[in-house]
Amino acid sequence: MVDIYIKEEFYAYDAFHIVKAFLPNEEIKQHINRERNEIISIDVDKQTIIKIDDVNKECTKKENKSEVNKKIYKQMERYTNKSIAWGILTGIRPTKILMKKLEDGKSEEDIKEWFQQQYLVSEKKATLGMEIAKREKSLLEQLDYENGYSLYIGIPFCPTTCSYCSFTSYPIQQWKERTDEYLEALCKEISFVGETSKEKKLNTIYMGGGTPTTLEAEQLDRLLTHVEKTFSLEELKEFTVEAGRPDSITEAKLEVLKRHHITRISINPQTMQQKTLDSIGRRHTVEDVIRIFRLARKLGFDNINMDLIAGLTGENVDDMRDTLEKIKELNPDNLTVHSLAIKRASKLNQTETKKELMNQSETLSEMIELAAKYAGEMELFPYYLYRQKNIAGNFENVGYAKVDKAGIYNILIMEEKQSIVAVGAGASTKIVLPKGKEIRDRKSGDLKNIVRIENVKDVDAYIMRIDEMIERKGEWLWR
Ligand code: SF4
Repeated sequence: MVDIYIKEEFYAYDAFHIVKAFLPNEEIKQHINRERNEIISIDVDKQTIIKIDDVNKECTKKENKSEVNKKIYKQMERYTNKSIAWGILTGIRPTKILMKKLEDGKSEEDIKEWFQQQYLVSEKKATLGMEIAKREKSLLEQLDYENGYSLYIGIPFCPTTCSYCSFTSYPIQQWKERTDEYLEALCKEISFVGETSKEKKLNTIYMGGGTPTTLEAEQLDRLLTHVEKTFSLEELKEFTVEAGRPDSITEAKLEVLKRHHITRISINPQTMQQKTLDSIGRRHTVEDVIRIFRLARKLGFDNINMDLIAGLTGENVDDMRDTLEKIKELNPDNLTVHSLAIKRASKLNQTETKKELMNQSETLSEMIELAAKYAGEMELFPYYLYRQKNIAGNFENVGYAKVDKAGIYNILIMEEKQSIVAVGAGASTKIVLPKGKEIRDRKSGDLKNIVRIENVKDVDAYIMRIDEMIERKGEWLWR
């Protein structure tokens, strides 16, 4: 049991996450009390292991927080005798920090050195972060992203619900009779976005969810036809559709996607181990993945992504190697390697397995390195990176791609360079305000240049309240 006693709430979030990274299985309680003398003291099983009495009055609050975080990290490192690859970096977008420094014209060496000192990040992760930030920067330089926007279309249905899932996803069988109603509401929202965004250039479209290919071929055709009629696609660089689960894909559906010029699809096995597919609630086989992948290639898809998850229950490094061997044989154009994240909304969170998973950081580290090695052998280069809360071993997710096959949408959403207008149940729009136009966050009081507009997650509510969803967007598009 860990008790963190804190004088000011300002230090609480980071302190919690740094301690959690070192002691993932401990229950952590925070006690905030303005009357305390020390800034922070941390007890493990009632024994005080860290005490920070004071901060430098000459420094800003932000500088002091950084110093407090470093002190907590170093003492936790001594106490547990282990290091955390991403140091005190609790945010999810390390490359955003690096990219900003590159844009400011700083040299690569200086940035790397600063990054390691400032956040206590390992040399390996700093090198990975720099490599990705540079690649992202050069890809974005080819795009007039400031005058454009991207569109996300959410289809919240899947064949079954995977145990680790925290997305907005409902089993298609339960909704089969009402998908047309959903599409009607969705098309209404799409029409509104198209009408309001006439002056803007649409750069990328991403259709995700859920699994869009749970829709029937005719429904996909109707939806894509509506998109084509609504938007000018002249400036469109990429149109991705998550074909996700092989048990949702048919030749007829792939043909519809091809006819509508979808440039990139995802076929996501997560693992090529049958025992794991069975245990995570997938109702398809490894052979299904291979068959569908080959079919997509035969139909002419030349940019296919595959998602893998490192750290799924019961898997060891040999399983990961076997999965990567099978993926290598297929030779995808993109590979996205996730570290398992235990989200509050997932079924996994409710099980005892959570503890076991959060504890296997060495195995995970090996799996992630193995994936990076295989990606190299497949001539796939890391091009985007993000982290999640409650990620096993405190690692990262990395997208790899062949030259010229990187998913631009992924970079745009991670680096928050461009507004992403999102339609559908559970979809979250992110408006990036023009330079110099910031608003104050109601909760933290900080100035920010991003406005989020969330659609309701529940499909029924989305259908019923579609006009309200549209109205909410209307308040911000494009003011
Ligand atoms: S396929 Fe993706 S969205 Fe669907 S249930 Fe599985 S993890 Fe969730």
